[in-house]
Amino acid sequence: MNKEVVDVLVIGAGPSGCVSSAWLHNNGLKVKVVEKTKFPRFVIGESLIPRVMDHFEEAGLLDALKSQKFEIKPGARFIRGEEVCVFDFSNKFGEGWDWTWQVPRADFDNVMAQEIIRKGVDLEFESEVTDIRFDGSNSITTVKDKNGDTKEIHAKFVIDSSGYGRVLPRLLDLEKPSSLEPHSSIFTHVKDTTRVPGQEGTLISFDILETEVWLWVIPFSNGNTSVGIVGPTDYIDQLSQSGNTEEALRCAINKSDYYRDRYGKLEFLFEPRRLTNYSCAVKQLYGDGYALTGNAAEFLDPVFSSGMAFATESGILAAKLAKRQIEGETIDWEREYSDYILSGVRVFSTYVKEWYTGNLQTLFFHQPENPDIKRKICAVLAGYVWNKDNPFVKKHDHVIRNLAYLIENEKEIKL
Ligand code: FAD
Repeated sequence: MNKEVVDVLVIGAGPSGCVSSAWLHNNGLKVKVVEKTKFPRFVIGESLIPRVMDHFEEAGLLDALKSQKFEIKPGARFIRGEEVCVFDFSNKFGEGWDWTWQVPRADFDNVMAQEIIRKGVDLEFESEVTDIRFDGSNSITTVKDKNGDTKEIHAKFVIDSSGYGRVLPRLLDLEKPSSLEPHSSIFTHVKDTTRVPGQEGTLISFDILETEVWLWVIPFSNGNTSVGIVGPTDYIDQLSQSGNTEEALRCAINKSDYYRDRYGKLEFLFEPRRLTNYSCAVKQLYGDGYALTGNAAEFLDPVFSSGMAFATESGILAAKLAKRQIEGETIDWEREYSDYILSGVRVFSTYVKEWYTGNLQTLFFHQPENPDIKRKICAVLAGYVWNKDNPFVKKHDHVIRNLAYLIENEKEIKL
């Protein structure tokens, strides 16, 4: 059997694997990426948040991405009937990027993959990890290529960025149920022939149809727009009882007073796809000789577009720690990786839960707006969930619930 020897093996060439491998390569390590599919390939996750820009910059990928003129995302709009709440990332608490992009991921991910190849990263497409054996932190990974030929890759460290492939969670029995309620989604792209000029045409929007059910609208710079419905799995099951996802998504769009006219009759560019019970978690984020990043570790919910930011945050941090370990340092993975990553996950997890209880929606749509509170929530939505100076990060586990309670009670007192 063929054998290759590298410092770090990265499984998967999504955003997590790309930033991770780019950083390792830029910092002098011999890195190999194996990717199961051939790019460009479709993947969902099209709305980014500003925190990812820090990671693309650090990985040296920002200029290649900027040159593509993807649609700029300066904020996000939430709609509930007649009520509208717009977050502007330039008006947030603390430091950080005030814009990012909304992107067709097939193109976006391909730009990153081609850029890392151009820089000299050894990225092998259509090659799939099928097995792994560890001897301490050294590992031997079996990889099968498109012709069915197998080889072994010897690595000092493995970063699993395989997304929903969840290679190491499956092989090492690390899967754990998510603490979130089961939710599902159906989505497609449309040719946005009815797009109006100006910001209205390109603004990313979330239209709340019921407290737990919302529609996303993500316009791209290529003239297409992504449209998707998210809700409890029971709701999505009912919507798609006939098994016809096209019918189900059209029915959902027609429930939207805001978007019915604009998208109700447009042709879908592909048969809408369904992802059922998409949230996932793991028992541990690392082990001897490996770390899990991005969706191979944990995915919460699309509502605050945190998936990519978590994927790149964990990808780049795992790369930095792996380098130090390979150079002989003893790394406290629990503290430096798991505790750090999970503290951000916990903030987003609270926001997701409080979205679906309706408490966060109470804050978003409360009038008159409180500019100070809005700036602090905006920083969380921008992905700066490690900034403990922000009370909406530090006290995430009760601040939203308490404020929503006060608002609701104030209403009752006025009644
Ligand atoms: P991926 O981008 O999935 O990349 C993993 C790669 O690994 C793939 O290319 C795959 O082919 C490869 N792979 C898999 N198995 C193997 C194997 N055995 N061997 C080799 N390679 C393998 N996130 C956002 O930020 N914004 C959003 O708007 C958003 N919307 C979402 C909507 C829905 C309905 C869902 C379910 C998720 C959404 N997400 C969103 C989350 C987003 O899709 C992910 O968080 C993000 O793609 C994770 O990136 P990744 O690099 O970890 O994995």
